[in-house]
Amino acid sequence: MPHIDFIQDLLDLKDQNIIISENCYSEEKIKGIIHKIINAKLIYNPIACYKCGHIKDDHIVKHGFKTSHIKTLSTAGFHTILRLDKQRYRCRHCNSTFTLKTSLVNDGCFISNNTKLSIALDAKKKVSEKDLALNHNVSHSTVSRIIDNAYEAYKVNKNYLPTNLCFDEFKSVKSTSGAMSFLFVNADSGEIIDIVEDRKLEHLKRYFLSFSKSARRAVRNIVIDMYSPYMTLIKSLFPNAKIVIDKFHLVQLFSRALNKTRIRIMNQSDKHYNKFKKFWKLILKDRNKLDTVRLQYNRTFRKQMREIDIVDFLMEQNTEFKASYTLYQDILTAIKLKNISLLESILSSENLLVSSYMITSLKTVKKYKKYIINMFQCQYTNGVIEGINNKIKVIKRIAFGYRSYVHFRNRILITQGILKIKAA
Ligand SMILES: [Zn+2]
Repeated sequence: MPHIDFIQDLLDLKDQNIIISENCYSEEKIKGIIHKIINAKLIYNPIACYKCGHIKDDHIVKHGFKTSHIKTLSTAGFHTILRLDKQRYRCRHCNSTFTLKTSLVNDGCFISNNTKLSIALDAKKKVSEKDLALNHNVSHSTVSRIIDNAYEAYKVNKNYLPTNLCFDEFKSVKSTSGAMSFLFVNADSGEIIDIVEDRKLEHLKRYFLSFSKSARRAVRNIVIDMYSPYMTLIKSLFPNAKIVIDKFHLVQLFSRALNKTRIRIMNQSDKHYNKFKKFWKLILKDRNKLDTVRLQYNRTFRKQMREIDIVDFLMEQNTEFKASYTLYQDILTAIKLKNISLLESILSSENLLVSSYMITSLKTVKKYKKYIINMFQCQYTNGVIEGINNKIKVIKRIAFGYRSYVHFRNRILITQGILKIKAA
């Protein structure tokens, strides 16, 4: 391959009318940074005058060149500029001049289209816009504009909803009132369906009313945390959907209560303060997963202990703690085995000795028992959303806090592969 063709290939210059010059290559310092400069000419026979449309004849003649500096894909890590001499023409029919056009750049723009595409593709990665701007030798605002323009606007099909959904929320941008946005996904595939700026009930009602009645009637299960506005929403707009409490949120309701119980007891205990403080993880662990075999020297106890011995020791120090811990473990077992009668028996027993925190959690469970039983009867959880939420956190962090919600939403949908790049 002649080296000029090679350069054409390297820069991904698809326009065959761009002719790389002999002695095409130089290096120049621009604003203190070394740039690779490639000289080229844009030459071809235009079919007609760009201004009046007159078919090219002897009265449309060459009229010098116009030079543009076009930012193009970097080469070997160096910012690269294509110094393109574009042929100009004079048309004697309309007495005006025009410059040849190339598919490499849009009119009036000095960033090549393949650079824009490359930025748009990089937007799928976990890279901040600031770094995208640095890598591609353009300004931060250019990056924002390219990302917003490169992707098809996302349109949700309002005549269709999947059979099983997960509802969740995430901390959004500051401009959003309440700063909590709503997202919902297909519970079977884990795909995002949409993101709604404000998770308040009246906003969500308005949003879901824009879906057809038959779309909403098709929904059978919706997984949520114990957030009562979601329940109101589902009851009023999804007539055939079962409310399913998310498993993780139910566990969390009790693990938090047990943790608060532990802290209160810890603060009342001079003698065992350190032990209650240090072994919080063992206390929250599923008892069936505690080590019952391996003896290890424990510095706090100053003797050989198994994990189960440590927990048993703590249990014996306080009756309230013992009762709360036992209740917590029973709840874990009921959830793990999806055992409805075990749950019923926990709720119907007196639970006299458990802490006030545990009582509050039990009251919540009684209130939403129907929805918890729904959870026992299906396999859906909001676990699928966890990965998405983690990604959103990363996007927020690398963006140093998006101001614009629309922009933030686009970047989330881009990284999730939901938004497609516009066909050129
Ligand atoms: Zn003309």
